[in-house]
Amino acid sequence: MTNMTSARIAIVGAGIGGCALATLLQRAGHEVTLYEQAPRFSPVGAGIHLSPNLIRVLRLLGVDKLALLAGHEPAAFVNRRAEDGELLYSLPLGDAANARFGAPFITLTRGDLYAAVMSTVRPASIHWGKRLAGMDWRGETVELGFEDGTVAHADIVIGADGLRSRVREALCGFEKPHFSGQVAFRASYPSHLLEGLPVDDLTKWWGHDTFVLPYWLDRGRSKFYFAAMTPQAEWPTEASSMPVDVDEMYSIFAGYHADVRHMLRQAPPESVSKWALFERSPKFEFGNERVVLIGDACHPMRPFMSQGAAMALEDVAVLYRAISGAPDFASAFSAYDAHRYERLSEVHRVSAANTFMHGPTEPDWVFGYDPLSAGATAQIPAVHLQPPLHARKLASEPA
Ligand SMILES: Cc1cc2nc3c(=O)[nH]c(=O)nc-3n(C[C@H](O)[C@H](O)[C@H](O)COP(=O)(O)OP(=O)(O)OC[C@H]3O[C@@H](n4cnc5c(N)ncnc54)[C@H](O)[C@@H]3O)c2cc1C
Repeated sequence: MTNMTSARIAIVGAGIGGCALATLLQRAGHEVTLYEQAPRFSPVGAGIHLSPNLIRVLRLLGVDKLALLAGHEPAAFVNRRAEDGELLYSLPLGDAANARFGAPFITLTRGDLYAAVMSTVRPASIHWGKRLAGMDWRGETVELGFEDGTVAHADIVIGADGLRSRVREALCGFEKPHFSGQVAFRASYPSHLLEGLPVDDLTKWWGHDTFVLPYWLDRGRSKFYFAAMTPQAEWPTEASSMPVDVDEMYSIFAGYHADVRHMLRQAPPESVSKWALFERSPKFEFGNERVVLIGDACHPMRPFMSQGAAMALEDVAVLYRAISGAPDFASAFSAYDAHRYERLSEVHRVSAANTFMHGPTEPDWVFGYDPLSAGATAQIPAVHLQPPLHARKLASEPA
């Protein structure tokens, strides 16, 4: 049986989930090495939602304030009918989010979120330019083979390598992620290009089988972003994105309210790209006694609840708790799997249905979930946040 504290842990993929988990395990004294295919850090990606359930994990990492400083805190999540703007449902956020869910709701760029999480990892523990080619987990140790011809060994492997996970492939064989039949036009551009159009902080405009989701990416409202979803029968390439004919986008959303048409038309054509949305079936594969999957490697889903990064960071918190409570990795991984299954299934199901907040909604089950303490048992103990340093100092001073 692998010794918990001296085990060599390899995390494949230094993305959002991989970096967050590495930090927590390193702080707990584990020996962790990350292998990332990218040659260096690059803050890639467009807009992303940090819902309160995700912010709780950033608090554990100690970077929630960084996200607050960089991002925008919307006053409400407004839902409108696409053609005439009629209000369908509005969820108050800002201070109300703190009061109701125990943490703020923030919108920002994925790059800013990634940079904040990356800043917590020990830099020397990341091996850049290491694209996993294959893995053999049946010997004494797990052997990782990289595309540059090098090899590494580990006792435990965590697959955090996203949608097209090679760790998953080594466990279950090759199976392409499914094209969901949905694509998204996405663009971000400076707010002055809106030419004074008043814009709500965060609005989902609901069409029949399409929607447009515009929001701000920064505290100063200088960067504006939209994602515009529509069905598409086929995706003709292996790549995730492709160049765009903006006339196609204008015509798909021609029946939308004039404000939305203006937001789409003001995007410089070169700033617009089209993305395929992929998913896997909700028969999640979590791994075995030595290899475990988190985030998109385990459960890529349609982004219609904007919960992709949140589910990855929830996985991180729960897996970290399971490792801290278990006598060995095998029991930790099986407790993690059992704990996550139901919640991931529900979020996967509601995301695919694209009904969340279309009308009056009870959002507490999503945003009020606390991954640091939910379902705590002896196997998965709750983790408690350290009070800020100044508060600890005051508490320890003589009365
Ligand atoms: C480039 C990029 C842009 C994105 N943009 C957005 C966005 O704008 N909005 C949004 O909501 N979501 C976006 N996402 C998805 C979102 O970040 C994830 O859904 C979420 O963070 C889940 O995190 P994760 O850790 O599972 O995966 P990710 O954060 O995707 O991280 C996976 C990591 O694994 C690495 N990797 C992949 N294959 C290998 C391999 N074979 N060997 C070694 N390393 C490997 C990747 O380079 C990446 O760093 C983006 C993801 C990526 C990779």
